[in-house]
Amino acid sequence: MAGLVTLVGAGPGDPALLTIGGLHALREADVIFYDALVSEPVLALASDRAERVYVGKRGGDHATAQGEIEERMIARARDGKRVVRLKGGDPFVFGRGAEEAQALHAAGIAFTVIPGVTSAIAAPAYAGIPLTHRGCASSFTVATGHEDPSKSASSLDWSALAKAPTLVLLMGVERLAAVTNALIAHGAGRTTPAAVVQDGTRPTQRCVTGTLASIAADAGAAGIVPPAVLVVGEAVALRRELRWFERGPLFGKRVLVTRPALQARSFASALLTHGAEPIVAPTVSIGPPDDPRPAQRAVDEASGFSWIVFLSFNAVDAFFDLLHARARDARAIGTARVAAIGAKTADALTAFGIRADLVSGRATSEDVGHELLARVHKGERVLIFGAQEGRHIVHGLLEGHGAMPVSVSAYKTRLAADPNFARKVARCDILTFTSGSTVRGFASLLGGNEAAAAAARGKVVACIGPITADEAREAGLRVDVVPDSFTTDALVEALEAHAADTA
Ligand code: SAH
Repeated sequence: MAGLVTLVGAGPGDPALLTIGGLHALREADVIFYDALVSEPVLALASDRAERVYVGKRGGDHATAQGEIEERMIARARDGKRVVRLKGGDPFVFGRGAEEAQALHAAGIAFTVIPGVTSAIAAPAYAGIPLTHRGCASSFTVATGHEDPSKSASSLDWSALAKAPTLVLLMGVERLAAVTNALIAHGAGRTTPAAVVQDGTRPTQRCVTGTLASIAADAGAAGIVPPAVLVVGEAVALRRELRWFERGPLFGKRVLVTRPALQARSFASALLTHGAEPIVAPTVSIGPPDDPRPAQRAVDEASGFSWIVFLSFNAVDAFFDLLHARARDARAIGTARVAAIGAKTADALTAFGIRADLVSGRATSEDVGHELLARVHKGERVLIFGAQEGRHIVHGLLEGHGAMPVSVSAYKTRLAADPNFARKVARCDILTFTSGSTVRGFASLLGGNEAAAAAARGKVVACIGPITADEAREAGLRVDVVPDSFTTDALVEALEAHAADTA
């Protein structure tokens, strides 16, 4: 059976602009062939088991490269693999997606197309430039600026382009002068507002504005490089009022994310949505505890407990990894009630089909411990699943209460190694810590508390909660931001409020 190829539009960069269909295809894919214009955060949404094949083209012999991509896709589809062809923006807008679809059709391979948000619309939109506007632009034209206008063989009708109320040119950065001169020569007004938007929808977005006559020089002076779109027309002037993305207080800020890679993803994507650039540099990694046997035993005997307490999202993952390794599922807990530390941990449980009986209002051991005291009876056995290096607050509270807690190390947080760590820190404006262990990892990777404090000087330091903040202060850091609730979403909001206050 020949497999299926799905041509997916990745959008212009911001992962929030990937469609639900595109996300689904990325999650289900066996192999993903992707281009240079596909942003890293979009690719990160694909399933971990998907093979990622980079087929970006840089100069050189395009025709051969194009044929080669098609052959490789066809071969993998014939192997019965679910192939995703992931292209920047929309696959059928200057993406050669149609050529690839033709090749698939010729080879008898089934394909589907999931359109994407094209940069032709999204880059102007994120720069605050509408392509139509009542009174000044009742249509827009999208064209390629790649063709040399001086060539008589040019397939573009320059006098028609010169008349377009709004004109968007893709792939035109290298030829801005030639392109704008051709438009002027064909009757476009020299003073028509014009803009170039580079890296649209990304934290590195830049927009240069001028007139049709000046924009080539303006963009050159500003050092604009591809990918960028040129927009020409009266609607460009609306940017003065409508620029919103770059006005966001976190726009362009580089934020160090020190949590383990797997959990960094949703945090990183929340940062991107606010225009910030996450620099993911995990200082710790999550792995099995030194002695995995107690956790294994606890999982086998889970139904014998009155309560099972999960002290983190990682503890939930570890618990179900162990269960699944035994070919068992959530039913293994029998009638035991379940407590979760905060909403994120409860969400992790929901994903495995379990609705927690108790979710502490805040994600601290103290809170979940005290809330449990009201529900747990004397003599009841309580299984506590947490980190090997965790504090024993809940255990102590339950013991004092007369219950019979059993604490199990579900996982261990280990220090990460990263030879480029100091360089990443130096590039950042904001440092974030989401646990005490990330603070300790930060200091250890930099060679001690003194070096850590020096590296953090002049940067905003944000901690997910008061306990992490205490650890940061102990390491000699000045803490600027601690949100009221202890989630990464709240952390992003608190960072934004702080940036707005200090702007
Ligand atoms: N299929 C793509 C276009 C591919 S052609 C789409 O629909 O967006 C490549 C050109 O797209 C680049 O030269 C540039 O002009 C434009 N482009 C792609 N991503 C961009 C971005 N994030 N910001 C600005 N322009 C972009």
